[in-house]
Amino acid sequence: MHEMFEVRWHGRGGQGVVTASRILAIAAFNEGFAGVQSIPWIGAERRGAQIEAYNRISRTPILLHSQVYSPDAVVVVDPSMITRNNNVVIRGLKKSGFLIINTAGTKVIPSIRVPEECLVYVVDATSICLELGLQAAGLYVLAMPMLGAFAKATGLISLKGLRKAVESSFESVLVEKNMKAIEKAYYSTLKVHITPEQYIPPVPPSRPERIPEFRHWTDLPPVPVSTPSKGSIGKTGDWRTHMPVIDKEKCTKCLFCWMYCPEAAVNVNEEGFPEIDYDYCKGCGVCFNECPRKAIRMVVDEKK
Ligand code: SF4
Ligand code: SF4
Repeated sequence: MHEMFEVRWHGRGGQGVVTASRILAIAAFNEGFAGVQSIPWIGAERRGAQIEAYNRISRTPILLHSQVYSPDAVVVVDPSMITRNNNVVIRGLKKSGFLIINTAGTKVIPSIRVPEECLVYVVDATSICLELGLQAAGLYVLAMPMLGAFAKATGLISLKGLRKAVESSFESVLVEKNMKAIEKAYYSTLKVHITPEQYIPPVPPSRPERIPEFRHWTDLPPVPVSTPSKGSIGKTGDWRTHMPVIDKEKCTKCLFCWMYCPEAAVNVNEEGFPEIDYDYCKGCGVCFNECPRKAIRMVVDEKK
């Protein structure tokens, strides 16, 4: 697996795409991945409208919070999406990525185009939902069986991890039905043979360049994320009940605290360490929340 595995889901509102993405993140966490994300992109917020969801799965904490532009795996919940516009669905898909499609039969297979070395898997999630009556508010929850297909194709998560995630997400009466759908899909997912004519050059992502994962403030573009002015309504330090205290032993000088402080109350000393300006620090705790190394504690401000 790459350092970070990225997934993009394609489906329609009401097919359980967002729920499945969330369950995948919980399952990955259950499997021991320290960095997991589930991000919905709902667009028009209408049932039947095209939606996407994204997952990131990593052994280490993830600092990137954008949409997924260059996925390692694309999961197509609604088969009409691949037949209507194959290239939109596979945009940015990595050269040796996974394309996992819900489709009945093999009719759709000749129309698939993927970058070289991609692995294509199919599963009939629609029939599984029909057979089990897996519906929510009148629509088949096609994305649930796709979790089983994802597990089978990528080998990244186990059925055990998925069960634990499903148990923590649904009332007990719904757990078995959803798990049955996932298991059925797991065992019926098939790898498809792709002919050389079906390989195409990678389709560029919708953003020209992948936004790098920021590990240090020097990775930031030379444009300030925000430009707060220090205590624009006076010494905002008066507002504070709790104060941030920086542990220099843990601090890596990434300066996320400097970047996120809404009062510009974090200065940088000559050694590159952040220092709090308590005249203006209002004790909001944003720096504490954003510090990726947990190097900031919030303690009661005894002077108050
Ligand atoms: S205190 Fe935390 S956020 Fe601030 S520079 Fe140090 S490690 Fe980074
Ligand atoms: S608590 Fe942190 S983020 Fe909030 S004002 Fe103080 S230094 Fe800035």
